[in-house]
Amino acid sequence: MKTTFRARLLNGQTGDPALLVALRWQGRALLIDLGRIDRTPAGVLLPIEAVFVSHAHMDHFMGFDQLLRLFLARDTTLRLYGPEGIADCVAGKLAGYTWNLTEDYAFAVEVTEIRGRELVSCRFPARRRFAREPLGEPRPFAGVVLADTVFTVEAAPLDHKIVSMAYAITEHMHLNVRPDALAEAGLRPGPWLNRLKHALRAGVPDDTPIDVAPGDRRPLAVLRDAFVTITPGQKVAYVVDTLFSPGNAAAIVRLAARADVFFCEAPFLEEDLEQAARRYHLTARQAGALARAAGVRRLNVFHFSPRYEGRYGAILAEAHAEFEGREVLYGELDRRSAALP
Ligand SMILES: [Zn+2]
Ligand SMILES: [Zn+2]
Repeated sequence: MKTTFRARLLNGQTGDPALLVALRWQGRALLIDLGRIDRTPAGVLLPIEAVFVSHAHMDHFMGFDQLLRLFLARDTTLRLYGPEGIADCVAGKLAGYTWNLTEDYAFAVEVTEIRGRELVSCRFPARRRFAREPLGEPRPFAGVVLADTVFTVEAAPLDHKIVSMAYAITEHMHLNVRPDALAEAGLRPGPWLNRLKHALRAGVPDDTPIDVAPGDRRPLAVLRDAFVTITPGQKVAYVVDTLFSPGNAAAIVRLAARADVFFCEAPFLEEDLEQAARRYHLTARQAGALARAAGVRRLNVFHFSPRYEGRYGAILAEAHAEFEGREVLYGELDRRSAALP
């Protein structure tokens, strides 16, 4: 089955964190974290419509300037989500440049801060020299930061001595058109398939008419049953820069539960457990334990500390041994995850 999300770390497992999640066939993309992105071609970055930042440590946020440079003269809005304080970080970056020739620009940055139980948004329009404007009333936050017609983005705050936000992107449902069935019925693929998919995702009634061709309207359910295979949507989870504590572990296991792909930081080897804890980071073994407890299908570890250069294979081996192993090494964690639905 072809998948809708195509997720890839723009700087691999050892470079700055930046996970591009492209939505295949839709010309849309999301970015989780914004480390350096100057080696990524513009064509790959232009479909980005929203960025989810874990926290503003430099290796997770220094790519903001590059994205700004790329989008500045475009008629678009860049949406950026992050923990409380991220709007000040954006304002600080914007204040570092002179904006006397942007009054005709349509571009704006919209920032949403995830603050406790609220989402608070503001807007920085280029035509007003990026002066900050409030945007709407605060909205209640109960886990979901963005609900799109195709996917939902959830966030969970983790303890990294500051808040480091973890994210999960879940597709509502996965729709596969069966080309052989279309051909057999003498129908051509076209924009009507997007209308059909859109209606299915919106959950409209079965008898809703869909225009297949001029003068040819058929009920939604008839088209669905004949041409579409519906399977549960994909899920991509992302966890970076976090302490291994019972509270964090429970939040991670809940957020990443049954993800198809789990991107999890593994900066340290277990032999440097104390160092990892002191720096509020995970070890590879802890990443593996979290992935196993969350019941994910695939684990992708990344954000390796350069201290292990030449030994990165050991990080992978440690994480995957724990992920696939049966030995219960984190009794506390396993008890908590067992209690989850
Ligand atoms: Zn950090
Ligand atoms: Zn980091």
